[in-house]
This record gives sequence, structure tokens and C-alpha cells, in this order.
Amino acid sequence: MPVLASLGPTRGHPFMPTPSVAGELSAAARKYGVKPMPSLEWNAQVERETAHLYDRVQAVIPPVEWPFFAPYVKAINDLKRERGAVILAHNYQTPEIYNCVADFVGDSLQLAIEATKTKAPIIVQAGVHFMAETSKILNPDKTVLIPDVRAGCSLASSITGEDVRLLRDRYPGVPIVAYVNTSADVKAEVDICCTSANAVQVVESLNADTVIFLPDQYLASYVASQTKVKIIAWKGACEVHERFTADELEKYRAADPSIQIIAHPECPPDVLDAADYTGSTKGMIDWVRKNKPKRVVMVTECSMADNMKAELPDVEFVKPCNLCPHMKRITLPKILDSLVYLKEEVTIDPMIAAKARRSVERMIHLRS
Ligand code: SF4
Repeated sequence: MPVLASLGPTRGHPFMPTPSVAGELSAAARKYGVKPMPSLEWNAQVERETAHLYDRVQAVIPPVEWPFFAPYVKAINDLKRERGAVILAHNYQTPEIYNCVADFVGDSLQLAIEATKTKAPIIVQAGVHFMAETSKILNPDKTVLIPDVRAGCSLASSITGEDVRLLRDRYPGVPIVAYVNTSADVKAEVDICCTSANAVQVVESLNADTVIFLPDQYLASYVASQTKVKIIAWKGACEVHERFTADELEKYRAADPSIQIIAHPECPPDVLDAADYTGSTKGMIDWVRKNKPKRVVMVTECSMADNMKAELPDVEFVKPCNLCPHMKRITLPKILDSLVYLKEEVTIDPMIAAKARRSVERMIHLRS
């Protein structure tokens, strides 16, 4: 069993972009122009034009709530077409975003790959800031927008590029793998990126006895359990997944021994031991689609179960409901604002972006 060493906690991530000052236009707004705010009235036309989208979410959005969402859904889809924009939405986005306005949905790896393929000049990232940065890293000439720049991540904010340079000094010659949940300046300093879907494959691809894995200590621990490579882990954690406990899962199992429990590898090791399956968000989705369990506990961010329920209404999803406060900053009104005013634009120093691109592309090319 490989030894898992931990380094000390970090001093915190200093990078947080400044939102546009009210009244100040972004470079993208100056280039493409600001559009008038569309009508947000609920009327027969809106009802008719969004009926097919409501069909997708009726299992999770009550009819009484749809008149609030539908005018935004129509306005966003109309404006998206007018602008030639695409919306990339993470699996943790709420059902009305995930099912009704997103062009592509997926986990971090799927969204990073979609970001390399899209021809759209404008990308709106319905996710957290490091995901928007990844899209910008892969599309330096495109406009990448995030509807709320405060949508951060406890993992990304646990480590800086300076921390990685100190690690290099302390462990000369040891390759460094960064989970994509890191800022561009961290990606710029490491050898390769990974996601929870390919972390083991990435670590083993380096043909090294020892690898530094950052910043998630629990994903590192999971990787260490799946490989002979010795892992040195950073002591970061996802504030959503670290809250799950093995005790709560055992209670679900005691109440219904036939229940299936599937967990994300950002959870602590005893939680993973209590689960029937461990996998990335895509892995969990594929597992439910394939196995169609009667009742399943999704041990991950709460909205993913809603999105699955919309697709598979016959499966009962038991939700220990831990919400990610950062993902929940993204809402339909903010997405609409992004498309009207072309804000908040993600920018990255070109030198840092070029170095970070090498780490992300190395991961993507490994996959193919
Ligand atoms: S769920 Fe956890 S890892 Fe994902 S964005 Fe939120 S804090 Fe970060």
C-alpha cells in the first residue's frame, strides 16, 4: 500500500478577478455590443415555445415554478442564437440550467474537451471559475464569460503557483499532477492535469515511482488505493464532499439493505469504503443509466441527483443534500446578464495561459 504523505495547509489563493465596475463595458461588450434586455413576461407565446423544455424537467420543477423560469429560458436561448454563443454547464448546475439552456453538459473533463471543439466565438461557463479559466486557456482567442466571478472552489483556493514552486524545490525531480480544480497559475507550474475521471491513468502515465498529487487529499488517497505509485498529497479538500460521513451512509443502508450507494472520490476514504461504487460525476451518471437501481444514494453535490431524476423519473434518488455554494451562484438571471452585457469576461496573462495550456492539453491528448 503506497504511503500517503501530506504537506501543510496553504496560505490561500490570492487570485480573484475583479468584477466589472457598474457602467464599465468589458472588452467583449465593446467588440460585440450590448443588447437590449429582453422582455421577461410570462405569456402564451413563452409557454408555447418552452413547453418542450418543460417536458424535460417536469419531474423536478413543479408547474407553479415554471412561469418564473420560462421567460429567462426563452430569452437566454434567443440571445445565445443571436450572439452565436454556447453555454457549457457542469453536472452540478440546477435542472433549469442543465436541461433548458445548456448546449453541452458534463464533468470537468467533458467540458474541457467540448471547449477545444466549439467554433462559437463566445463561451458562457455555467460552472465555477477554474472551469471558465480552463475554457479560456484552451480558447485564448475566444470570449469566455462567467456569470458570477465569485463562483470559486475550496480546492482551487487551497493552493497557489508559488506553493507549487516550493514543492518543486522540496521534491526535486518528482512529477506533479494537478487536479483541474486549480487556478491557471497552478496549472502553469505542474507537469500535467487530471480530472477525477482519469486521475489514476494520468498518474500511471508518468512512469514514476513517486508523484505529487494536488490539491485534493481525498482524491489523492483514492488514487493511492488504485495504484502502486507512491503519492505525495496536498492537504486540500472539497468543502461539499468532505462533509459526508460513513455513519450517515450506514444509516441509509440499515433502513433499506437493498439501497445502492455511489460516491465521488473527493469524499473521505471511510465514505468510499461504505459505497458500492466510486467514480467521477460522469462515472456515477453512467453507472445509474446502466444499472437503473430502484433506490440510489448519490454521494455528491445535490443538483446532480435532480438532473438524473429529470432523465430517469422511475429511479428514486435519495439525496443527502450537500449543495456547493459556488456552483449555486450561477443562476438564469445571471446567465442572461452575461449574454446581454457580455460579462464577466475571463482574462489570463498570456504567458501563464500558454504554460497552463501545455498541462491541460497533455491530459487531453493522453485520453485519445
Ligand atoms: S463541489 Fe467542491 S470541488 Fe466542486 S466546485 Fe464546489 S467546492 Fe469545488
